[in-house]
Amino acid sequence: MPEVLAYATDDKSCQFHKTTITRREPGATEVFFEVKYAGICHSDIHTAREEWGPVTFPLVPGHELAGIVTQVGSEVTKFAVGDKVGVGCFVDSCGECEFCQQGQEQFCTSTEKPVVMTYASTGRDGLPTAGGYSQGITVEQDYVCRIPDEIPFEAAAPLLCAGITTYSPLKRWGAGPGKKVAVVGMGGLGHMGVQIAAAMGAEVSVISQTMSKEADGKKFGAMHYYATSEEGTLDKLRGTFDMVLSTISADYDVDALLGTLKVGGALVNVGAPEKPVDVAVFSLIVGNKIFAGSNIGGIAETQEMLDFCAEHGIAPQVEIIGGEDITEAYDKVVASKVRYRYVIDTSTF
Ligand code: NAP
Ligand code: ZN
Repeated sequence: MPEVLAYATDDKSCQFHKTTITRREPGATEVFFEVKYAGICHSDIHTAREEWGPVTFPLVPGHELAGIVTQVGSEVTKFAVGDKVGVGCFVDSCGECEFCQQGQEQFCTSTEKPVVMTYASTGRDGLPTAGGYSQGITVEQDYVCRIPDEIPFEAAAPLLCAGITTYSPLKRWGAGPGKKVAVVGMGGLGHMGVQIAAAMGAEVSVISQTMSKEADGKKFGAMHYYATSEEGTLDKLRGTFDMVLSTISADYDVDALLGTLKVGGALVNVGAPEKPVDVAVFSLIVGNKIFAGSNIGGIAETQEMLDFCAEHGIAPQVEIIGGEDITEAYDKVVASKVRYRYVIDTSTF
């Protein structure tokens, strides 16, 4: 059984320490890959701080993994030793239900073989799953994506969550030429949303809390940049956008954002704050507005997103950190101080 170094927290105070975990030998259709880089998603923080409910500790988070295959099972056909691969938020599902068949494995409805999240979940072996803050992982080949050579490897990991979580709703809700799209919150997800929406051909605006990231927003492809710290910003934007993508990780004023939509426009929420948000029905009724959600994306669409990013020269802007820096990085993410995703280099373990 492969033993690997990892970083875990023993409770919701999120003081990370080095540990050793055991991975299973790859089965016939599984691959083992050395995790080289792991992104820190704000969802890791919500989970480990138990903002979404209780979890089992010790916890090894991480659902943005980039690595290199070092072992393949006897029936693996999709990958070979040496391949650059990535894994996102889930590592298994039934493969047979309506949603698995549609390539939306994240919505697997099976009760016998339910979706297995990369961490804080129960694996098929009945053991708690452990995520990407580790030097290696065993995964069923159907839940692994290929990382194109055009994408800088040390920056690829965040695409496996931040990339797909923004690509999927932008595509579904028609971001493209002639469409005005606002991305709200320019953190890990937001800075990918800006790049992807711009590459799809939309006219992109950023709505941030401050103007401090304006130059970066424009570099990522935004044509306009607004800050809610400036009085009256959302009032001035009334009736402007076809689509607003909210990546805000905290409570926010949904009605004010709905007001920035054109008639028939959609506010798509991907941020997952701890507490429920309020919405006034009149904000929806007047103007036939849509308030929608979106949850990551399936495996085929994740591969499509990776290929799209390679083709368009898009990549996350990352700050590489070591294992010892994870504890502090959590506070910096919550304080919006990351530019724009922390990626853990597992060779520092
Ligand atoms: P992040 O890097 O911390 O970015 C969140 C951004 O939200 C911040 O950069 C900040 O942008 C803005 N923000 C933070 N606090 C705010 C507040 N009080 N009011 C207004 N804006 C605020 O986090 P992330 O990794 O991108 O994740 C964003 C959210 O999406 C998290 O809640 C995460 O759990 C969720 N998520 C959901 C899915 C899904 O499938 N739906 C997948 C992944 C993540 P500015 O500094 O520009 O204001
Ligand atoms: Zn995530």
